[in-house]
Amino acid sequence: MAQEFDVLVIGGGPAGYVAAIRAAQLGLKAACCESAAYADPKGEPRLGGTCLNVGCIPSKALLYSSELYDHATHAFVMHGIKVEGVSIDVPSMIRRKDNIVTQLTSGIKGLFKKYKVTFLAGHGSFVAEADGLWKMKVGNEDVVAKHVIVATGSRARHLPGIPVDNVNIVDNEGALKTESVPKRLGVIGAGVIGLEMGSVWKRLGSEVTILEALPDFLAAADQAVAKEAWKVFTKKQGLNIQLGVQIKEVTTGPNTVSVKYENDEGDQVLEFDKLVVAVGRTPNTEGLNAAAVGLKLDARGRIEVDDHCSTNLRNVWAVGDVVRGPMLAHKGMEEGVMVAECIAGQAGHCNYDTIPWVIYTQPEIAWVGKTEQDLKAAGIPFKAGQIPFMANGRALGQGDTTGFVKVLAHAETDQILGAHIIGTNASELIAEAVVAMEFGASSEDLARTAHAHPTLSEVMHEAALAVDKRSLHF
Ligand code: FAD
Ligand code: NAD
Repeated sequence: MAQEFDVLVIGGGPAGYVAAIRAAQLGLKAACCESAAYADPKGEPRLGGTCLNVGCIPSKALLYSSELYDHATHAFVMHGIKVEGVSIDVPSMIRRKDNIVTQLTSGIKGLFKKYKVTFLAGHGSFVAEADGLWKMKVGNEDVVAKHVIVATGSRARHLPGIPVDNVNIVDNEGALKTESVPKRLGVIGAGVIGLEMGSVWKRLGSEVTILEALPDFLAAADQAVAKEAWKVFTKKQGLNIQLGVQIKEVTTGPNTVSVKYENDEGDQVLEFDKLVVAVGRTPNTEGLNAAAVGLKLDARGRIEVDDHCSTNLRNVWAVGDVVRGPMLAHKGMEEGVMVAECIAGQAGHCNYDTIPWVIYTQPEIAWVGKTEQDLKAAGIPFKAGQIPFMANGRALGQGDTTGFVKVLAHAETDQILGAHIIGTNASELIAEAVVAMEFGASSEDLARTAHAHPTLSEVMHEAALAVDKRSLHF
C-alpha cells in the first residue's frame, strides 16, 4: 500500500524543510524526502540541503574562525593586546564546523518529529497524475500526494575542461573541507562564494588570486559599495582580483594546478596549490521524471513558476534554488511558507522586493531593494543619504570604521527604495531597512525612530537623516 499525504516535499533543504513544517503546522499531513547523505557517517540521507551541509552554515563557521585568527594576528595589537605564537590548527577548525553542521542537521530531524512531518529517506520522482492525486516514487516506495512541492535546490556549476575532484580543484564542497592552508590559492569567479572562500584562506595566510570573467566587480551591488569593496579587498587586504579574464586551459600536476588565461595584457599562466571553481549554480531537475509528466522548465533549466510558485501542473509547486530569483536560503524559506499557506487555503505571499543580500566578507556587504544604478536606469527620481562608519562612536571604539550606509528614498514620496551597507555587522544592520521597506516606511519614519546610543545602527539613522540633508553627527 502506498503511503498517502496531503503534501509531499521533494528535497530537505531550507526551502523544502520549511515548506513541510509550515504545511504540518497548518494541519496538513506532510512528508519530506531527501536523497543526499552529505557527510553523514552512516551514509544516510541528511536534512538541511546545501545551506546547512555545504553552504551557508559551514562557510559562515569558517569565516568566523578565520576572522578571529585575523583579529589575533592583526587587530589585537591596536587595542594594546600582545599575543605571541599564534597559530592555526586547520583540522580543528574544520571539525568545529562539522560539529555545527551535525548539530543543525539533526535539529531539523527533531523539528520534523515535533511538528509531525514524515521524513522519507530516498530520491523522489514523479510517476503520474491520476484522479487528482500525484503518484510518486521515493526510493523504491510508492507514495501518493494531493500536492507536491519540488524543492530540489541546486549544485555547483562546473566549467568544461576543468575537472573538479574536490582535492586539488574544488567547488564549494571541497573548499569547505580543506585541511591545510594552501600557499597559493586560485579562485575562478569573483562572486559571493569566491569572495567569501577567498577571504577565509587569505586570512589564514594563503596568497589568493581571484579570476573573474566580467569586466565589472560586484555588478549587482550598488556601485558605490562595489567601489569601496574593491578598494578594501585589493589594496588593504591584498586579494589579487583580476577582472575581464578568459580562462583558456587548466592542467593539474601532482600537487599543483596551472591556469592559463587571457586578460587585456595578453596570455597569462598562474600556478596554484589549490583551485576553487565558484562560477554559479545549476538547478537540480534531473531524475524527477519531469519531462514525462510535462513539468515545464524555463530557458535556464529552472522549473517555471508564477508569483505564488505554482508550476504548469495542477497541485505541483516549486520553491527555492530550483526556480527563478536569487539563490538564497531565506528566499527559499519565504517561498516554502507561502506555498504551504496557499495549499492550506490561505493568502500566502512573498515580497520579492525586500529580499536582502549579504556577502559575509569583512567588511560585510548587505543590501535590500534598488541600487542607485537601478533607479537611474528606471528613471525613478530619488534622494540619497550616505554616512560613513568613521563618524560613529561605537565603530571607532571597536576599531571597525571601514565603509558606510546609504539610504535611497523616492524624491517625491520619500518612500525607502533601497539600503546599502558596507561595514562591520552589515548582515545584522540590514534587517532594519528590510522591516522598514516591508512596511512601506519613508526615510522620515526611519529618521524619527530612536536608535540606541552608542550602536552601529545609528549609522542607519544618520543615513536616513542625511536623505533630507539633516544628519546630526556628520
Ligand atoms: P538546497 O539547499 O540545495 O536543498 C535541496 C535538497 O534537495 C538537497 O539536499 C538535495 O540533495 C535534495 N534533492 C535534490 N533532488 C532530490 C530528489 N529528486 N529527491 C530527494 N531529494 C532531492 N544563501 C544564503 O541565503 N546565505 C548564505 O550565507 C549562503 N551561503 C552559501 C554558501 C555556499 C558555499 C553555497 C554553495 C550556497 C550558499 N547560499 C547561501 C545559498 C543557499 O545554500 C541556497 O540558496 C539554499 O540552500 C537553497 O535552498 P533549497 O532548499 O532551494 O535547495
Ligand atoms: P555567483 O553568481 O555569485 O558568482 C559567480 C561569478 O563567477 C560571477 O561573478 C561570474 O561572472 C563569474 N564567472 C562565471 N563564469 C566564469 C568563468 N568562466 N570564468 C571566470 N569567472 C566566471 O556564484 P557563486 O559565487 O558560485 O555562488 C552561487 C550562489 O550561491 C550565489 O549566487 C548565491 O546565490 C549563493 N550564495 C550566497 C551566499 C550569501 O548569501 N552570502 C554565499 C555563497 C553563495
